[in-house]
Amino acid sequence: EIIASINAQTSVKSEDVKSQNAFANLFKCTHSVQDVIKNHILENEDEDPFFVCDIGQVVRQHIKWVRNLPRIEPFYAVKCCGDPLLLKTMVSMGTGFDCASRGEMQNMLNYGVPPSKIIYANPCKQNSHIRFASEKGIEMMTFDNVDELYKVKKYHKSAKMVLRVLIDDSNSLCKFSSKFGASPSAARELLEKARELGINVIGVSFHVGSGCFASSSFRDAVLVARNVFDIGKELGFDFTLLDVGGGFPGSDNENISFGEVCEVLRTAVDKYFPAHVRVIAEPGRYYSASAFTIATNIIARRIVKRDGSDDGIVGNDDHPSFMYYINDGIYGSFNSIMFDHQHPRPKPLCKNGQFLFDNGETRETEFNCSVWGPTCDSLDCLSKNTLLPELDVGDWLYFDEMGAYTISAASEFNGFKKSKILYTNTETTEFLKIAIAAEQSKNLN
Ligand code: PLP
Repeated sequence: EIIASINAQTSVKSEDVKSQNAFANLFKCTHSVQDVIKNHILENEDEDPFFVCDIGQVVRQHIKWVRNLPRIEPFYAVKCCGDPLLLKTMVSMGTGFDCASRGEMQNMLNYGVPPSKIIYANPCKQNSHIRFASEKGIEMMTFDNVDELYKVKKYHKSAKMVLRVLIDDSNSLCKFSSKFGASPSAARELLEKARELGINVIGVSFHVGSGCFASSSFRDAVLVARNVFDIGKELGFDFTLLDVGGGFPGSDNENISFGEVCEVLRTAVDKYFPAHVRVIAEPGRYYSASAFTIATNIIARRIVKRDGSDDGIVGNDDHPSFMYYINDGIYGSFNSIMFDHQHPRPKPLCKNGQFLFDNGETRETEFNCSVWGPTCDSLDCLSKNTLLPELDVGDWLYFDEMGAYTISAASEFNGFKKSKILYTNTETTEFLKIAIAAEQSKNLN
């Protein structure tokens, strides 16, 4: 019935998100991402950049997860993208959540997430945030240093601690080992201290690094965790939790595929951990990256002449080149270039009012170009050298797979507002099942 009521509404808009109906309206907005982009550009004259989030893609990622890793419960890493409708979808699908601060924990409790479905996965925590976790009944927390044990002894009597161990993260874009993780010898000392203080340690966690490009890292890390389980056993602990962290790919590429990671992880976990050990993970990028596409407007352009006669800039090759200035950049959604070591690839979207993704086989001649953000800082460069057709001021570029570590750390430096978000849902049938199940479980509670 709900699906039959699909009407002409194209997308849920970010300004609607606070309303109760935004989630329900996702049944009605079933247009493709490209159609939402097109309609928005045609209906609006403000040229502002905007994201389109396809909630259906989040649902598809979850279905893929459950099929491939049935033993591993996902605790979505909220830091990766805390978009309200994405979180609401995750809550409805019954996942857990990895939170790193009081703010993230409060946010997820506000969504009705039970405390048992939250892990406070930050090994170095502020005292008041620990007290908050204690008051709210959030028990699972990670640690990797002795001071954390003293803090927990003082502020959180019922904590269930998870020891984060140091693993080799050399095969990852974003490495964490310089900041977090206890080596095997430190792990022994920490567990001895935990025993002495009477602290309940329930298991081990690791993170292979975000943007991991070698599935073998997961296998090696599982082995390290197994060794620490054995140390725990020697010291009289009976660990029941393995947390395999994040690092799952947001999309398949030439270096790594989700299927390959699953194969390696499933095999290692089943080989080294008996069935009674609960296994959780903290995927972030995997769920959010591919759900978001951003459309940006070319607000200015400089044409580069080889003799420097035009805009005073001398090109260094035989081609004419262009410098395109777009209205989101490094200080906004593209902070992922700095913080997440990404290289988002611009694609032509609209030229002279013609939508280029409709062109099919028609290929425009491409030139060497650079792409810049809108602020007055020269660091605000998205790409120093990329191939694009000749485009004009007012034309549009788009970037796909922009949902991970983008919106969550964007600023409004120089007065440029964060890009707004429109929502669509290309997976209504599965979404409907999930939403109905969520309603039923609410009634049962
Ligand atoms: N868990 C922890 C503790 C993290 O620090 C991060 C990322 O920074 C994640 C999970 C999510 O990692 P990913 O997005 O690579 O899955």
